[in-house]
Amino acid sequence: MSVFDLVATDGAARAGVLHTMHGDVPTPAFMPVGTKATVKTVDPDELRALGAQIVLGNTYHLHFRPGEELIAELGGLHSFMAWDGPILTDSGGFQVFSLRDTLLQTDDDGVTFRSVYDGTPARFTPELAAAIQTQLGSDVAMCLDICPPPGVPRAVLEQAVRRTTLWAERQRDLPRAPGQLRFAITQGGLDAELRARSSEELAPLDFDGYAIGGLSVGEERAPMFEATTHAAALLPEAKPRYFMGIGDPEGVIEVIARGVDMFDCVLPTRTARTGSALTFEGRLNLRNARFARDPRPLDEACRCPACTRFSRAYIRHLVNQQEILGIRLLSLHNLRFLIDLVGDARRAIERGAFESWRDDALSRLTPQPLET
Ligand SMILES: [Zn+2]
Repeated sequence: MSVFDLVATDGAARAGVLHTMHGDVPTPAFMPVGTKATVKTVDPDELRALGAQIVLGNTYHLHFRPGEELIAELGGLHSFMAWDGPILTDSGGFQVFSLRDTLLQTDDDGVTFRSVYDGTPARFTPELAAAIQTQLGSDVAMCLDICPPPGVPRAVLEQAVRRTTLWAERQRDLPRAPGQLRFAITQGGLDAELRARSSEELAPLDFDGYAIGGLSVGEERAPMFEATTHAAALLPEAKPRYFMGIGDPEGVIEVIARGVDMFDCVLPTRTARTGSALTFEGRLNLRNARFARDPRPLDEACRCPACTRFSRAYIRHLVNQQEILGIRLLSLHNLRFLIDLVGDARRAIERGAFESWRDDALSRLTPQPLET
């Protein structure tokens, strides 16, 4: 059975289905992030009701707390967090290379860093990253890669590409959980030649899917989208393509337009915790006094548990009083908003109308200045 079926294409945009041990995932797919085996404040039943088809878990954090052996003892990650749908686990590479001032040393064998939990030195190798994900039992495991920060010298990017390939070669044939898929991650930052090199080195290894890593890490948006166009086109057409770390409505539409099938971001839930809602009027900061007597829902067209029952005025009150329900309602809304947006994109691709849908969606999303 194939891992991925392409159902329709429209320009570079694609609609497909990813097949996993815990079910099919229609793509494009937004994947809510459950860093510590929980999408913050959201119950798995609620995630299912919102339309989430797959969630992310985080190898780095689960390795340190509570530990993959404990999770395996309790039946694996699906059983532990009571989510019976597909789970993708990232490899921990992004955390190792991005958590501030914890990186100690990288060599061809692996990477040494200080745990963000207690500062003790720890080491990740490709073999350990694969073994942790095997214990967790995720449906999609990611290769350990090297994700440099933006703006590093070309030699650093080149070294990251070389080691990422070296590590992918070592991880490809390591033991896996039953039915587990393994995706490689391409690197190269904004450098067109290095992105091509990374893809050319990894594509022949025939992984189940390919990720675009090392973008959306703080660089300017225009060159980032240009690099995405380039990077996506370099990946095998028959394999799923995963853009790591994008979750704002405009960004999601732009990567779908460039042929990306899957993406994840903490943005919907993190934005909720700052008291903001994603809407077709732009991002609303509920702390703003103009919502104090506003009887309307967060978004008129949304059918989430917040918008069908509560006013902006009520949610603003909850946010201002630091009531937990306020964060929960905004989290449910923001996740639903993105999941619905991506579902609309899929239907537009299927009927061959993606370009006009994209123009319309972007014009609705962008005319109002974003509030912060
Ligand atoms: Zn809503």
